[in-house]
Amino acid sequence: MTATFNPPIRTLMGPGPSDVSPRVLQALSRPIIGHLDPEFIRMMDELKALLQYAFQTGNQLTLPVSAPGSAGMETVFVNLLEPGDKVVVCQNGVFGGRMKENVERCGAEAIMVSDDWGRPVDVDEVRRVLAANPAAKALAFVHAETSTGARSDVQALTGLANDHHCLSIVDSVTGLGGIELRVDEWGIDAIYSGSQKCLSCVPGLSPVSFSERAAEVIRNRSQRVQSWFLDLNLVMAYWGSGEKRSYHHTAPVNSLYALHEALVILQEEGLEQSWARHRHNHLAFAAGIEAMGLSFVVSEDYRLPQLNAVTVPENVDEAVVRARLLADYGLEIGAGLGTLAGKVWRIGLMGFASNRKNVLLCLAALDEVLSDLGARIERGAAVTAAQHFYRDH
Ligand SMILES: *Cc1c(COP(=O)(O)O)cnc(C)c1O
Repeated sequence: MTATFNPPIRTLMGPGPSDVSPRVLQALSRPIIGHLDPEFIRMMDELKALLQYAFQTGNQLTLPVSAPGSAGMETVFVNLLEPGDKVVVCQNGVFGGRMKENVERCGAEAIMVSDDWGRPVDVDEVRRVLAANPAAKALAFVHAETSTGARSDVQALTGLANDHHCLSIVDSVTGLGGIELRVDEWGIDAIYSGSQKCLSCVPGLSPVSFSERAAEVIRNRSQRVQSWFLDLNLVMAYWGSGEKRSYHHTAPVNSLYALHEALVILQEEGLEQSWARHRHNHLAFAAGIEAMGLSFVVSEDYRLPQLNAVTVPENVDEAVVRARLLADYGLEIGAGLGTLAGKVWRIGLMGFASNRKNVLLCLAALDEVLSDLGARIERGAAVTAAQHFYRDH
């Protein structure tokens, strides 16, 4: 007989999923009720308001898609695009490349703006490309590029989209809850996120939000959305407002309790306070990393506090280090992706995992494992530097 699966206890400091509060795990184990139960519908209305707070938006079309961030991405593209549309897509890492895939699979054309990995999207280049492509329907870019740890200037880019009368599409899967994001004030038309990064909920849900202008585009399509499951015109029969909700698909009831709880926790802390906490812990971590003699891939002015891409020192096998951290410390950090594979570690300080204990654990563990493998680092300096940062700030 197969025994019950009991996962080990880990500290999750990779690119997601991040550690989850015990309150979120408790929420998952609450009794299941029907997805059309009036009490469940009341919870859904609260969840929508909590998401509007997290996104800083009054958008009516705000809901969690019943699938991971990738499905949120797909929801945005399949609902807004029709065959023959042109979209300017910015790529400065893995996820911009996935946007291109989505655009092309919708039968639309992706006009690419490519930047080096580790750099933010080049605003001047986007300005030139939009000017050269007046028929572009949308500008799509990633707010927080999880593959490199670079933050792009959302406000500057949505400003350009507005100047050129095209829609702005923003991937903030890793941004939401961790760094400043103001959907209405910044004029974002369509945005998707994920539950398992800075919101510190279980994976499998993707909050999305659409401006009234984007909602109009969806309502006035000339062709049906090719995906039945992700067609928001149908999904809204369930997630729309008012008493009357009808069945579209069975909502992931307990996962939605968990997202509700994660967002209640965010609201209790306060959005600005959460952004500040992510920054504070990042600065302590960075002080330690630099004291050890390691360096960051991304320069300080556009570095994400929640995703730290740290360069692997010479003559060190990065996979061996990750395996040791997992085996000896129960600590998970991420490997590099794409062009950065083998060259960097991606160390997350996301949501519930962004705390002093994790910063100090990770620095101490890296110090020990790297020293043991003979890497040339400043032994013992990292933890002290981070502790000094916490003492002084
Ligand atoms: C994680 C991530 C995604 C995909 O989310 P999944 O939940 O893994 O499907 C998309 N974009 C970015 C920037 C991400 O970090």
